[in-house]
Amino acid sequence: MTSKISVLGSTGSIGTQTLDVARMHGIKVTALTANHNIKLLEQQAREFNPEMVCVLDTGAAAQLKIALSDTDIDVFCGEEGIINAAQEKTSDTVVNAIVGVAGLLPTVAAVKAGKNIALANKETLVSGGSIVMKEVKEHNVKLYPVDSEHSAIFQCLQGCPENSLKKIILTASGGSFFGKKRKDLENISVKQALKHPNWSMGAKITIDSSTMMNKGLEIIEASWLFDCKDEDIDVLIHRESIIHSMIQLKDNAVIAQLGVPDMRIPIQYALTYPERLPSPSAELDLSELGGMTFFKPDYETFACLGICREALRKGGLLPTVANAANEVAVDMFLKEQIRFLDISDIVGNAVSEYGNNKDDISLDDIMNTDRETRISIKEKFGSGDDLS
Ligand code: NAD
Ligand code: MG
Repeated sequence: MTSKISVLGSTGSIGTQTLDVARMHGIKVTALTANHNIKLLEQQAREFNPEMVCVLDTGAAAQLKIALSDTDIDVFCGEEGIINAAQEKTSDTVVNAIVGVAGLLPTVAAVKAGKNIALANKETLVSGGSIVMKEVKEHNVKLYPVDSEHSAIFQCLQGCPENSLKKIILTASGGSFFGKKRKDLENISVKQALKHPNWSMGAKITIDSSTMMNKGLEIIEASWLFDCKDEDIDVLIHRESIIHSMIQLKDNAVIAQLGVPDMRIPIQYALTYPERLPSPSAELDLSELGGMTFFKPDYETFACLGICREALRKGGLLPTVANAANEVAVDMFLKEQIRFLDISDIVGNAVSEYGNNKDDISLDDIMNTDRETRISIKEKFGSGDDLS
């Protein structure tokens, strides 16, 4: 199991839960990074005494440097500083809990530095799956999924012979608007969309759950992690979020992984694999739960699901386009610049209008396409923010 971790995005929902696990099992933390929340980052730095910390925002980093001047902790800033944290020499594993495609370059840097990766940042694989999986192989490192569904699939696969997998059954809570139709979603407020029935998560992924873009991104993520095609991955609505996903084997046996909805279980498994250690999470009591429900997804209302499937089938740069369009659209929705249903329209149009797709793609192609997609949507919607 892992003994020293760098945590990228340590102040977020996954980051703080990763530190819960590290605290419980005495895992040494060697680097911590955040976007701008220096108050929490300072507290974390004082508790875990890493070699270094990094803040994306230069001004906030300067303030943190003063605040930590009584310690030996090095303070870095900017994207370069985050890359330094990803490559921090004493860590064996990098937990990537950054939100968005901003996590891609740090993942690649960490792999190239020979680190194992505990990956929460699904956008890394959605946009850069072909590159990341190639680098993982070349550098002979391990990539452990943290996303609960992918951890569940990984757990179910333990002990299954190679080539025995027939299909993946990716479970989905259905988000805040399960059972609604498009016309019911015309006037959804930010507050309504930020209310998830089962999980407490960062704002971006909570909106992604409400549009079901999250499940679309997870289909693409699963395709890279488990070498599957679109048609090998089913989505099943399971309202209670107790079954975190299932696999169906060639003999039609179905194996599921269950547990309370608590991300510290998959985070811990990624850090202690193959060991099973006590967890800070609660025990599952199925008699108290009473029952579980399952439904087919509604592809008409939740268009992002089908759009992601199309992007996966066509491949190349289309998943990057879908992801970038979604990141911009969610940002604009959170700032009340567009309406809820505009999110899926923006993602759908970006994918169907993209004319420069190709199969053999480089990291530069991905980063350029990501930037161009953001700029063109920003221009179209007249957003004054610098979303590039
Ligand atoms: P969050 O918004 O709570 O935290 C994001 C972290 O990344 C913060 O520490 C923030 O400071 C940092 N960050 C934000 N923008 C950054 C940038 N441009 N560069 C560097 N750092 C930046 O998000 P979260 O909910 O913890 O999600 C993190 C990732 O994990 C996402 O990719 C999400 O899809 C995935 N994930 C989250 C959950 C969950 O339960 N929260 C579950 C499964 C997967
Ligand atoms: Mg998930």
